[in-house]
Amino acid sequence: MNSIYDLHTHSTASDGTLTPGLLVRRAAAAGVTVLALTDHDTTEGLAEAGAVARELGITLIPGVEISVTWGARTVHIVGLNLEIDNPALQTGLAGLMDFRAWRAEEIGRRLAKHGIEQAYEGAKALSNGVLIGRTHFARFLVHRRLAADTGDVFKRFLTNGKPGYVAGQWATLEAAVGWIRAAGGQAVVAHPARYGLTRTRVQALLGEFREHGGVAIEVVTGSHSRDDAFTFARHAREQHLLASAGSDFHGPENPWLELGRLPPLPEDCTPIWHDWRHLARDFDPALAKPGVFRTLLGG
Ligand code: AMP
Ligand code: MN
Ligand code: MN
Ligand code: MN
Repeated sequence: MNSIYDLHTHSTASDGTLTPGLLVRRAAAAGVTVLALTDHDTTEGLAEAGAVARELGITLIPGVEISVTWGARTVHIVGLNLEIDNPALQTGLAGLMDFRAWRAEEIGRRLAKHGIEQAYEGAKALSNGVLIGRTHFARFLVHRRLAADTGDVFKRFLTNGKPGYVAGQWATLEAAVGWIRAAGGQAVVAHPARYGLTRTRVQALLGEFREHGGVAIEVVTGSHSRDDAFTFARHAREQHLLASAGSDFHGPENPWLELGRLPPLPEDCTPIWHDWRHLARDFDPALAKPGVFRTLLGG
């Protein structure tokens, strides 16, 4: 059977709009056979996703997308095949969640000073009540008709230099890759074309990433053009990194980006899943603890 991989998705555990269970159902209906749930800075959605994946007979890869500050930029590092009960990983993520909680209140205060009342409360009401990200603020401002769409909100309110922007320190690249490795996972640079880096800076990022033990970059992803895919396939080859593919699906509201509809990886890349036969086959939330896997070989 041909596998269809989607290794980057979000649920209501972070800033997606489908619950983990509904995300898995939609992925299965779209023909995805190997799905990674990679919520921002949390693994909270994985138990529910794993239970539904098991019911539907698709493979759920336990993942996360960690927010990193690298050279004054925010860079996202995806972790795949995690043992999610790993203390180093969970302590690291807890620190990021603390920062997120403070930042959400601070965004609310700054927008209030700018004349936009109740934004914190509004964003919170659109979230799960725990992880309140910029996307929730963006959706709230669109509801309030203060902007045409979420992209417009980011441009006018939530990016560097704009009234609701709050700078801050996310994890270091070394720490994020370290937590993922501590949890037995594989670290992947998410959507590398999104950072606006020159070729030299991309090489610096990927070089550091590999020194810390990172293994892959997303070559095919929702925000990459076909040219981006070929550019980063070449980077992967030059830096001896594996290639990953994931939609970065956040919900059915973005009709141009669907689960499991990615173009193939360019032929000269080695897919991150090339040796997964011996890895996570069946994430089983019914077993004693999350992060326990049955293997294809071991049964
Ligand atoms: P946060 O991690 O809370 O700072 O929010 C980052 C998230 O905001 C990303 O994962 C995207 O889902 C979303 N995002 C970032 N930039 C934009 C943009 N220009 N338009 C729409 N969504 C964006
Ligand atoms: Mn997001
Ligand atoms: Mn991202
Ligand atoms: Mn993402």
